[in-house]
Amino acid sequence: MDLGFTSEQSMFRESVRTFVGKECPPALMRELDVEGRYPTSIMSKMAGLGWYGAFTPESHGGLGLGPVHLALMIEELARFSPSIASAYYITMWGVLNINLHGSPEQKAHYLPRVAEGRQNFSFSLTEPDSGSDAAALRCRAVLEGDNWVINGQKMFCTQAGAPDNSIILCARTDANSKQGGLSMIFVPTDAPGLRMHKMSTMARRMQGTYELYFDNVRVPRASVLGEVNRGWEYIVGHLERERMCVAAGAMGHAKQVLNEIVQYVKQRKQFGRTLGDFQAIQHTIADLRVQVDCAELLTYKTAWMLEQGLPCPTEASMAKLHATETLVNCGMQGMRLLGGYGLTEEFPMARAFREGMGAVTGGGTSNIQRNIIARNVLRG
Ligand SMILES: Cc1cc2nc3c(=O)[nH]c(=O)nc-3n(C[C@H](O)[C@H](O)[C@H](O)COP(=O)(O)OP(=O)(O)OC[C@H]3O[C@@H](n4cnc5c(N)ncnc54)[C@H](O)[C@@H]3O)c2cc1C
Repeated sequence: MDLGFTSEQSMFRESVRTFVGKECPPALMRELDVEGRYPTSIMSKMAGLGWYGAFTPESHGGLGLGPVHLALMIEELARFSPSIASAYYITMWGVLNINLHGSPEQKAHYLPRVAEGRQNFSFSLTEPDSGSDAAALRCRAVLEGDNWVINGQKMFCTQAGAPDNSIILCARTDANSKQGGLSMIFVPTDAPGLRMHKMSTMARRMQGTYELYFDNVRVPRASVLGEVNRGWEYIVGHLERERMCVAAGAMGHAKQVLNEIVQYVKQRKQFGRTLGDFQAIQHTIADLRVQVDCAELLTYKTAWMLEQGLPCPTEASMAKLHATETLVNCGMQGMRLLGGYGLTEEFPMARAFREGMGAVTGGGTSNIQRNIIARNVLRG
């Protein structure tokens, strides 16, 4: 499919594809998932290639690339594991938020460290009593002298345990306003009073997903990203970028899973014929191909709109909804089409289903994406 990428974008994609073939082979991706091990050495190699500075502006020593490059990078990285792509893009979310809202001091502090592979980020919004209704969060940050003092609990913070990590915490800084009382605050994971507990989840195992407990955690006043109490506005913009990234990862992995299903049904014989000779199986393959191609179109449409600086809440939600449900479906159909072998870890079907469900849920569930799409469509 030619989506009109420039030759430079195609070369960029090719270099990521080559890297993934060499450094992120399927057996290693499986091992990191089974062992729940963060891919530190792969991330260091990516930093060595300058890819952690790819989305930092040239004025701060980066490559200044845009959302289409980001989508290409994620699609290719996710080929054998959406989790390795997510380990990269969650840190990039930090960079993009800093580019947009960071103070000169925050840019000077964080951006070079990210580019050198010495800084990761996590994004923490969800709490025990606020998931889909994210703005109802209660984790409290109160200004005392020159410090924010933070108390509360967070849930499902992906890769909080990554090396050299800072959490971008969404906290309540004004108790009298729901959306208007939120701020984003950098909290290093070694801050005294912060306790983290790794959760047992079926997705994102190589990064780990964490519960966080804040007990009088103190960070300097200057740790707020952008302006105090404008956090919700920043979160809404962040979620458009987040959903495009999640869609790109799900789509990149779904493409590979479909390739493997096709190879399998072309060689597996039952009743003296290959599985691919049975019409029932051909129809499943046809449906999956349509779904994967639609995921690709929706993802790159969203990336293109982000690149143009156009608002794209509906497109980002459509891409995220469709691409993540497609990955779940590829995993599920793959498990059926490969029979018993589809349920073994030797093939990527079961993991695709697990990771797909993680992608369906994180960044707002499919129902929440439908709510956003419907609201915007009905508004006209
Ligand atoms: C693997 C993984 C990684 C994650 N990583 C992060 C992270 O890094 N940072 C972070 O902040 N969060 C993260 N999350 C949390 C995720 O964003 C939330 O789980 C998600 O937003 C749903 O919230 P909830 O689990 O509280 O479910 P709830 O909000 O309780 O929803 C439960 C069900 O009700 C449905 N529902 C709720 N409200 C409505 C409605 N208005 N209309 C229709 N249906 C509705 C939902 O669709 C869902 O099916 C992660 C989750 C997972 C599984």
